[in-house]
Amino acid sequence: MELIFRQARIKDDAPLQDVAVSNGKIEFIGPHFEGQGKREIQAEGRVLIPGLVEGHLHLEKALVSDRKANRSGTLQEAIAVTAALKPTFTREDILERSRKTLRMMVKNGTTCVRAHSEFDPAQGFTGVDAVLTLREEFKDIIDIQVVAFPQEGIIKAPGTEKMMYEAVERGCDVVGGIPYNDPDAHEHIDLVFKIAKHFDKDLDLHQDFADDMDGMSIEYLAQKTIEHGYEGRVCVGHETALGAVPPERLAQLIPLIRDAGITVMCLPNTDLHLGARKDTHNVRRTLTPVRALRDGGVNVCLATNNIRNAFTPFGNGDLFQIALVAIPACHLGGADDQATVLPMITTNPAKALKLKDYGLEQGKKADLVLLDTTSVTNAIIDVPDRMFVVKNGRIVVESHRTINYAF
Ligand SMILES: [Zn+2]
Repeated sequence: MELIFRQARIKDDAPLQDVAVSNGKIEFIGPHFEGQGKREIQAEGRVLIPGLVEGHLHLEKALVSDRKANRSGTLQEAIAVTAALKPTFTREDILERSRKTLRMMVKNGTTCVRAHSEFDPAQGFTGVDAVLTLREEFKDIIDIQVVAFPQEGIIKAPGTEKMMYEAVERGCDVVGGIPYNDPDAHEHIDLVFKIAKHFDKDLDLHQDFADDMDGMSIEYLAQKTIEHGYEGRVCVGHETALGAVPPERLAQLIPLIRDAGITVMCLPNTDLHLGARKDTHNVRRTLTPVRALRDGGVNVCLATNNIRNAFTPFGNGDLFQIALVAIPACHLGGADDQATVLPMITTNPAKALKLKDYGLEQGKKADLVLLDTTSVTNAIIDVPDRMFVVKNGRIVVESHRTINYAF
Protein backbone atom coordinates (compact mmCIF):
# COMPACT_ATOMS: atom_id res chain seq x y z
CA MET A 1 0.00 0.00 0.00
CA GLU A 2 1.15 3.52 -0.74
CA LEU A 3 -0.50 5.15 2.25
CA ILE A 4 -2.15 3.90 5.43
CA PHE A 5 -4.03 5.88 8.06
CA ARG A 6 -3.84 3.79 11.24
CA GLN A 7 -6.71 3.93 13.73
CA ALA A 8 -8.72 6.80 12.28
CA ARG A 9 -12.18 7.76 13.47
CA ILE A 10 -14.83 7.57 10.79
CA LYS A 11 -17.88 7.42 13.05
CA ASP A 12 -18.36 8.31 16.69
CA ASP A 13 -19.22 5.35 18.93
CA ALA A 14 -17.66 2.87 16.49
CA PRO A 15 -14.28 1.09 16.45
CA LEU A 16 -11.34 3.00 14.98
CA GLN A 17 -10.38 1.96 11.46
CA ASP A 18 -7.27 1.45 9.35
CA VAL A 19 -7.68 3.02 5.93
CA ALA A 20 -5.28 1.80 3.25
CA VAL A 21 -4.77 3.59 -0.05
CA SER A 22 -3.16 2.54 -3.33
CA ASN A 23 -3.51 3.51 -6.99
CA GLY A 24 -5.54 6.57 -6.01
CA LYS A 25 -8.22 4.45 -4.37
CA ILE A 26 -9.29 3.36 -0.92
CA GLU A 27 -8.30 -0.31 -1.03
CA PHE A 28 -9.23 -1.26 2.52
CA ILE A 29 -11.21 0.00 5.50
CA GLY A 30 -11.35 -2.16 8.62
CA PRO A 31 -10.24 -2.43 12.24
CA HIS A 32 -6.78 -3.70 11.28
CA PHE A 33 -4.83 -3.84 8.03
CA GLU A 34 -2.18 -6.57 8.08
CA GLY A 35 0.11 -5.22 5.37
CA GLN A 36 2.60 -2.38 5.40
CA GLY A 37 2.38 1.03 3.80
CA LYS A 38 5.13 3.07 2.14
CA ARG A 39 3.83 5.89 4.33
CA GLU A 40 1.93 5.18 7.53
CA ILE A 41 0.14 7.90 9.47
CA GLN A 42 -0.83 7.23 13.07
CA ALA A 43 -4.23 8.92 13.29
CA GLU A 44 -4.63 8.00 16.98
CA GLY A 45 -8.40 8.38 16.89
CA ARG A 46 -8.45 11.57 14.82
CA VAL A 47 -11.30 12.04 12.37
CA LEU A 48 -10.86 11.13 8.71
CA ILE A 49 -13.39 12.59 6.26
CA PRO A 50 -13.75 12.58 2.47
CA GLY A 51 -12.41 15.72 0.73
CA LEU A 52 -14.48 18.88 1.08
CA VAL A 53 -16.47 19.86 -2.00
CA GLU A 54 -16.86 23.57 -2.83
CA GLY A 55 -20.05 23.80 -4.87
CA HIS A 56 -20.04 27.48 -5.84
CA LEU A 57 -17.05 29.80 -6.20
CA HIS A 58 -15.83 32.69 -8.33
CA LEU A 59 -12.10 32.23 -8.80
CA GLU A 60 -11.33 35.08 -11.16
CA LYS A 61 -12.91 37.69 -8.88
CA ALA A 62 -11.20 36.52 -5.65
CA LEU A 63 -8.64 38.45 -3.60
CA VAL A 64 -9.18 41.95 -4.98
CA SER A 65 -10.74 43.78 -2.03
CA ASP A 66 -7.43 45.52 -1.25
CA ARG A 67 -7.42 47.17 -4.70
CA LYS A 68 -10.57 49.26 -4.41
CA ALA A 69 -12.65 49.37 -1.28
CA ASN A 70 -16.41 48.94 -1.05
CA ARG A 71 -16.95 51.52 1.70
CA SER A 72 -20.70 51.08 2.19
CA GLY A 73 -20.65 47.29 1.90
CA THR A 74 -23.80 47.40 -0.27
CA LEU A 75 -24.53 45.41 -3.43
CA GLN A 76 -24.85 48.68 -5.36
CA GLU A 77 -21.32 49.77 -4.49
CA ALA A 78 -20.03 46.22 -4.97
CA ILE A 79 -21.30 46.25 -8.57
CA ALA A 80 -19.74 49.70 -9.19
CA VAL A 81 -16.39 48.71 -7.63
CA THR A 82 -16.26 45.46 -9.59
CA ALA A 83 -17.16 47.18 -12.87
CA ALA A 84 -14.25 49.59 -12.32
CA LEU A 85 -11.83 46.75 -11.53
CA LYS A 86 -12.88 44.29 -14.24
CA PRO A 87 -10.82 45.82 -17.07
CA THR A 88 -7.68 45.28 -14.93
CA PHE A 89 -8.31 41.51 -14.71
CA THR A 90 -5.70 40.35 -17.21
CA ARG A 91 -5.00 36.67 -17.81
CA GLU A 92 -1.80 36.79 -15.72
CA ASP A 93 -3.57 38.59 -12.90
CA ILE A 94 -6.44 36.06 -12.88
CA LEU A 95 -4.03 33.13 -12.94
CA GLU A 96 -1.99 34.51 -10.05
CA ARG A 97 -4.96 35.25 -7.78
CA SER A 98 -6.76 32.02 -8.67
CA ARG A 99 -3.67 29.93 -7.88
CA LYS A 100 -3.44 31.65 -4.50
CA THR A 101 -7.15 30.99 -3.89
CA LEU A 102 -6.87 27.34 -4.88
CA ARG A 103 -3.93 26.88 -2.52
CA MET A 104 -5.97 28.39 0.33
CA MET A 105 -8.80 25.98 -0.43
CA VAL A 106 -6.65 22.87 -0.76
CA LYS A 107 -4.83 23.70 2.46
CA ASN A 108 -8.23 23.71 4.16
CA GLY A 109 -9.21 20.32 2.78
CA THR A 110 -11.11 21.07 -0.42
CA THR A 111 -10.50 18.48 -3.15
CA CYS A 112 -13.11 19.61 -5.69
CA VAL A 113 -14.52 23.00 -6.68
CA ARG A 114 -17.19 24.19 -9.09
CA ALA A 115 -16.04 27.55 -10.46
CA HIS A 116 -18.49 29.98 -12.06
CA SER A 117 -16.38 31.70 -14.70
CA GLU A 118 -17.87 34.76 -16.22
CA PHE A 119 -17.69 36.30 -19.65
CA ASP A 120 -19.44 39.10 -21.50
CA PRO A 121 -18.99 40.88 -24.82
CA ALA A 122 -16.82 43.60 -23.20
CA GLN A 123 -14.41 41.29 -21.33
CA GLY A 124 -14.44 38.34 -23.71
CA PHE A 125 -13.30 34.92 -22.50
CA THR A 126 -10.21 35.95 -20.51
CA GLY A 127 -11.63 34.59 -17.22
CA VAL A 128 -13.03 31.38 -18.70
CA ASP A 129 -9.81 30.59 -20.57
CA ALA A 130 -7.69 31.20 -17.46
CA VAL A 131 -9.85 28.92 -15.31
CA LEU A 132 -9.81 26.22 -18.01
CA THR A 133 -5.99 26.44 -17.95
CA LEU A 134 -6.04 25.99 -14.18
CA ARG A 135 -8.38 22.99 -14.43
CA GLU A 136 -5.58 21.21 -16.30
CA GLU A 137 -2.73 22.64 -14.19
CA PHE A 138 -4.35 21.58 -10.90
CA LYS A 139 -5.86 18.27 -11.99
CA ASP A 140 -3.74 16.21 -9.59
CA ILE A 141 -4.38 18.60 -6.68
CA ILE A 142 -8.02 19.69 -6.92
CA ASP A 143 -10.77 18.90 -9.45
CA ILE A 144 -12.19 22.04 -11.03
CA GLN A 145 -15.56 22.06 -12.76
CA VAL A 146 -16.06 25.16 -14.89
CA VAL A 147 -19.48 26.79 -15.24
CA ALA A 148 -20.10 29.08 -18.24
CA PHE A 149 -21.50 32.06 -16.34
CA PRO A 150 -23.16 35.05 -18.08
CA GLN A 151 -22.85 37.48 -15.13
CA GLU A 152 -24.18 40.50 -17.04
CA GLY A 153 -27.30 38.65 -18.25
CA ILE A 154 -27.89 37.09 -21.66
CA ILE A 155 -30.78 38.98 -23.23
CA LYS A 156 -29.77 42.43 -21.99
CA ALA A 157 -26.13 41.96 -23.07
CA PRO A 158 -26.36 41.39 -26.85
CA GLY A 159 -23.80 38.89 -28.11
CA THR A 160 -23.85 36.84 -24.90
CA GLU A 161 -26.15 34.10 -26.20
CA LYS A 162 -23.62 33.26 -28.92
CA MET A 163 -20.84 33.39 -26.33
CA MET A 164 -22.69 30.83 -24.19
CA TYR A 165 -22.31 28.26 -26.97
CA GLU A 166 -18.68 29.28 -27.52
CA ALA A 167 -17.91 28.96 -23.79
CA VAL A 168 -19.11 25.35 -23.75
CA GLU A 169 -17.21 24.63 -26.96
CA ARG A 170 -14.06 26.01 -25.28
CA GLY A 171 -14.47 23.36 -22.56
CA CYS A 172 -16.87 24.55 -19.85
CA ASP A 173 -18.44 21.61 -18.03
CA VAL A 174 -21.72 23.17 -16.94
CA VAL A 175 -24.12 25.81 -18.32
CA GLY A 176 -24.65 28.75 -15.96
CA GLY A 177 -27.27 31.45 -15.75
CA ILE A 178 -28.65 34.38 -13.79
CA PRO A 179 -32.40 34.75 -14.50
CA TYR A 180 -32.82 37.73 -12.12
CA ASN A 181 -30.32 39.78 -14.11
CA ASP A 182 -32.41 39.80 -17.30
CA PRO A 183 -35.68 41.64 -17.96
CA ASP A 184 -37.61 38.38 -18.34
CA ALA A 185 -36.43 35.61 -15.99
CA HIS A 186 -38.58 32.98 -17.73
CA GLU A 187 -37.11 33.78 -21.12
CA HIS A 188 -33.63 33.49 -19.57
CA ILE A 189 -34.49 30.08 -18.10
CA ASP A 190 -35.87 28.88 -21.46
CA LEU A 191 -32.63 30.00 -23.13
CA VAL A 192 -30.27 28.25 -20.72
CA PHE A 193 -32.26 25.02 -21.01
CA LYS A 194 -31.97 25.25 -24.81
CA ILE A 195 -28.18 25.64 -24.53
CA ALA A 196 -27.77 22.95 -21.84
CA LYS A 197 -29.82 20.45 -23.85
CA HIS A 198 -27.92 21.25 -27.04
CA PHE A 199 -24.70 20.08 -25.34
CA ASP A 200 -26.32 17.63 -22.88
CA LYS A 201 -24.79 19.58 -19.97
CA ASP A 202 -26.07 20.19 -16.45
CA LEU A 203 -27.28 23.63 -15.32
CA ASP A 204 -26.14 25.78 -12.39
CA LEU A 205 -27.94 29.08 -11.92
CA HIS A 206 -27.57 32.14 -9.74
CA GLN A 207 -31.20 32.17 -8.66
CA ASP A 208 -33.59 34.48 -6.80
CA PHE A 209 -30.93 36.57 -5.06
CA ALA A 210 -33.22 39.08 -3.34
CA ASP A 211 -34.48 40.02 0.13
CA ASP A 212 -38.12 39.69 -0.91
CA MET A 213 -40.15 37.06 -2.75
CA ASP A 214 -41.35 39.32 -5.59
CA GLY A 215 -40.19 38.21 -9.01
CA MET A 216 -38.99 34.75 -7.93
CA SER A 217 -38.64 32.25 -10.77
CA ILE A 218 -37.83 29.03 -8.86
CA GLU A 219 -41.32 27.62 -9.48
CA TYR A 220 -40.97 28.10 -13.23
CA LEU A 221 -37.44 26.67 -13.11
CA ALA A 222 -38.63 23.56 -11.24
CA GLN A 223 -41.55 23.04 -13.65
CA LYS A 224 -39.25 23.39 -16.67
CA THR A 225 -36.69 21.06 -15.08
CA ILE A 226 -39.33 18.33 -14.87
CA GLU A 227 -40.70 19.13 -18.34
CA HIS A 228 -37.23 18.82 -19.88
CA GLY A 229 -36.44 15.61 -17.97
CA TYR A 230 -33.60 17.44 -16.20
CA GLU A 231 -34.32 16.10 -12.70
CA GLY A 232 -31.10 15.91 -10.66
CA ARG A 233 -29.23 18.05 -13.19
CA VAL A 234 -29.94 21.58 -11.93
CA CYS A 235 -28.31 23.54 -9.08
CA VAL A 236 -29.24 26.97 -7.80
CA GLY A 237 -27.06 29.33 -5.76
CA HIS A 238 -28.35 32.00 -3.31
CA GLU A 239 -32.13 31.34 -3.59
CA THR A 240 -32.44 33.85 -0.74
CA ALA A 241 -35.90 35.05 -1.84
CA LEU A 242 -37.26 31.66 -0.81
CA GLY A 243 -36.48 32.67 2.79
CA ALA A 244 -39.12 35.40 2.48
CA VAL A 245 -41.90 32.99 1.46
CA PRO A 246 -44.61 32.32 4.08
CA PRO A 247 -44.97 28.74 5.31
CA GLU A 248 -48.15 27.81 3.38
CA ARG A 249 -46.60 28.81 0.05
CA LEU A 250 -43.23 27.28 1.00
CA ALA A 251 -45.02 23.99 1.66
CA GLN A 252 -46.08 24.00 -2.00
CA LEU A 253 -42.72 25.03 -3.46
CA ILE A 254 -40.40 22.70 -1.54
CA PRO A 255 -41.96 19.42 -2.80
CA LEU A 256 -41.74 20.82 -6.33
CA ILE A 257 -38.03 21.69 -5.89
CA ARG A 258 -37.46 18.22 -4.43
CA ASP A 259 -39.31 16.45 -7.25
CA ALA A 260 -37.27 18.43 -9.78
CA GLY A 261 -34.13 17.18 -7.99
CA ILE A 262 -32.81 20.75 -7.78
CA THR A 263 -29.87 21.25 -5.42
CA VAL A 264 -29.94 24.48 -3.41
CA MET A 265 -26.60 26.07 -2.47
CA CYS A 266 -26.75 28.46 0.47
CA LEU A 267 -23.96 31.07 0.25
CA PRO A 268 -24.05 32.45 3.79
CA ASN A 269 -21.01 34.76 3.70
CA THR A 270 -22.24 36.73 0.69
CA ASP A 271 -25.94 36.53 1.45
CA LEU A 272 -25.55 37.76 5.03
CA HIS A 273 -23.11 40.49 4.00
CA LEU A 274 -25.23 41.95 1.17
CA GLY A 275 -28.73 41.06 2.31
CA ALA A 276 -31.24 43.28 4.13
CA ARG A 277 -29.11 46.40 3.72
CA LYS A 278 -32.25 48.53 3.64
CA ASP A 279 -33.61 47.14 6.91
CA THR A 280 -33.26 49.82 9.57
CA HIS A 281 -33.99 47.56 12.52
CA ASN A 282 -34.74 43.90 13.27
CA VAL A 283 -32.50 43.14 10.28
CA ARG A 284 -33.43 39.99 8.34
CA ARG A 285 -31.03 37.11 7.69
CA THR A 286 -31.89 36.85 3.99
CA LEU A 287 -30.79 33.25 3.64
CA THR A 288 -32.43 30.40 1.80
CA PRO A 289 -34.49 28.31 4.27
CA VAL A 290 -31.87 25.58 4.73
CA ARG A 291 -33.69 23.58 7.41
CA ALA A 292 -37.05 23.58 5.65
CA LEU A 293 -35.43 22.54 2.37
CA ARG A 294 -33.41 19.80 4.07
CA ASP A 295 -36.47 18.51 5.96
CA GLY A 296 -38.44 18.58 2.71
CA GLY A 297 -35.96 16.21 1.07
CA VAL A 298 -34.07 18.77 -1.03
CA ASN A 299 -30.32 18.34 -1.50
CA VAL A 300 -28.86 21.37 0.34
CA CYS A 301 -25.24 22.54 0.31
CA LEU A 302 -23.18 25.31 1.88
CA ALA A 303 -20.73 27.11 -0.39
CA THR A 304 -18.39 30.10 -0.44
CA ASN A 305 -19.29 32.15 -3.57
CA ASN A 306 -16.73 34.95 -3.14
CA ILE A 307 -13.48 35.43 -1.25
CA ARG A 308 -12.28 38.95 -0.44
CA ASN A 309 -13.86 41.11 -3.08
CA ALA A 310 -16.46 43.88 -3.14
CA PHE A 311 -19.30 41.33 -2.77
CA THR A 312 -17.74 39.46 0.16
CA PRO A 313 -14.73 41.25 1.66
CA PHE A 314 -13.63 38.33 3.88
CA GLY A 315 -13.11 34.57 3.77
CA ASN A 316 -10.11 32.24 3.87
CA GLY A 317 -11.09 29.56 1.39
CA ASP A 318 -12.17 27.40 4.32
CA LEU A 319 -15.51 25.58 4.04
CA PHE A 320 -15.41 24.90 7.79
CA GLN A 321 -15.64 28.64 8.38
CA ILE A 322 -18.59 28.85 5.99
CA ALA A 323 -20.27 26.01 7.90
CA LEU A 324 -19.52 27.72 11.19
CA VAL A 325 -21.28 30.89 9.98
CA ALA A 326 -24.23 28.80 8.77
CA ILE A 327 -24.70 27.01 12.11
CA PRO A 328 -26.11 30.05 13.95
CA ALA A 329 -27.32 31.92 10.86
CA CYS A 330 -29.44 29.01 9.53
CA HIS A 331 -30.39 27.72 12.99
CA LEU A 332 -28.35 24.56 12.57
CA GLY A 333 -27.00 24.53 16.11
CA GLY A 334 -29.37 21.96 17.60
CA ALA A 335 -27.70 18.62 18.27
CA ASP A 336 -29.67 16.84 15.54
CA ASP A 337 -29.16 19.74 13.14
CA GLN A 338 -25.39 19.91 13.68
CA ALA A 339 -25.03 16.36 12.44
CA THR A 340 -26.47 17.43 9.08
CA VAL A 341 -23.90 20.21 8.50
CA LEU A 342 -20.78 18.21 7.55
CA PRO A 343 -22.70 16.46 4.70
CA MET A 344 -23.58 19.94 3.36
CA ILE A 345 -19.89 20.51 2.50
CA THR A 346 -19.06 16.89 1.58
CA THR A 347 -21.58 14.30 0.34
CA ASN A 348 -24.39 16.72 -0.65
CA PRO A 349 -22.26 18.86 -3.00
CA ALA A 350 -20.56 15.68 -4.26
CA LYS A 351 -24.00 14.45 -5.30
CA ALA A 352 -24.85 17.80 -6.92
CA LEU A 353 -21.56 17.88 -8.84
CA LYS A 354 -21.97 14.22 -9.82
CA LEU A 355 -18.56 13.25 -8.46
CA LYS A 356 -17.78 9.69 -9.39
CA ASP A 357 -16.48 7.34 -6.72
CA TYR A 358 -16.77 9.91 -3.92
CA GLY A 359 -16.91 8.88 -0.28
CA LEU A 360 -15.15 7.12 2.54
CA GLU A 361 -15.72 3.56 1.33
CA GLN A 362 -13.63 0.75 -0.04
CA GLY A 363 -13.14 1.12 -3.80
CA LYS A 364 -13.84 4.86 -3.82
CA LYS A 365 -11.41 7.57 -4.84
CA ALA A 366 -8.85 8.42 -2.14
CA ASP A 367 -9.70 12.11 -1.59
CA LEU A 368 -9.30 12.36 2.18
CA VAL A 369 -8.72 14.85 4.97
CA LEU A 370 -7.39 14.03 8.43
CA LEU A 371 -8.72 16.46 11.03
CA ASP A 372 -7.01 17.32 14.30
CA THR A 373 -10.05 16.37 16.35
CA THR A 374 -11.26 13.05 17.73
CA SER A 375 -15.01 13.74 17.50
CA VAL A 376 -17.05 13.55 14.30
CA THR A 377 -19.89 15.35 16.11
CA ASN A 378 -17.61 18.30 16.85
CA ALA A 379 -15.74 18.20 13.54
CA ILE A 380 -17.18 21.54 12.37
CA ILE A 381 -17.36 23.46 15.65
CA ASP A 382 -13.78 22.55 16.59
CA VAL A 383 -12.59 24.12 13.29
CA PRO A 384 -9.75 21.60 13.49
CA ASP A 385 -6.42 21.84 11.68
CA ARG A 386 -6.48 19.91 8.43
CA MET A 387 -3.38 17.79 9.14
CA PHE A 388 -3.27 15.80 5.89
CA VAL A 389 -5.06 16.49 2.64
CA VAL A 390 -4.98 13.58 0.20
CA LYS A 391 -5.95 13.92 -3.47
CA ASN A 392 -6.15 10.85 -5.71
CA GLY A 393 -4.22 8.90 -3.06
CA ARG A 394 -1.36 11.40 -2.84
CA ILE A 395 -0.67 13.72 0.11
CA VAL A 396 -0.97 17.27 -1.28
CA VAL A 397 -0.81 19.17 2.01
CA GLU A 398 0.69 18.25 5.34
CA SER A 399 0.33 20.64 8.24
CA HIS A 400 1.63 20.35 11.79
CA ARG A 401 1.23 22.96 14.46
CA THR A 402 3.40 23.24 17.57
CA ILE A 403 1.87 24.88 20.58
CA ASN A 404 3.99 25.52 23.66
CA TYR A 405 2.02 26.63 26.68
CA ALA A 406 4.08 28.85 28.98
CA PHE A 407 1.88 28.12 31.97
ZN1 LIG B 1 -21.99 33.26 -7.37
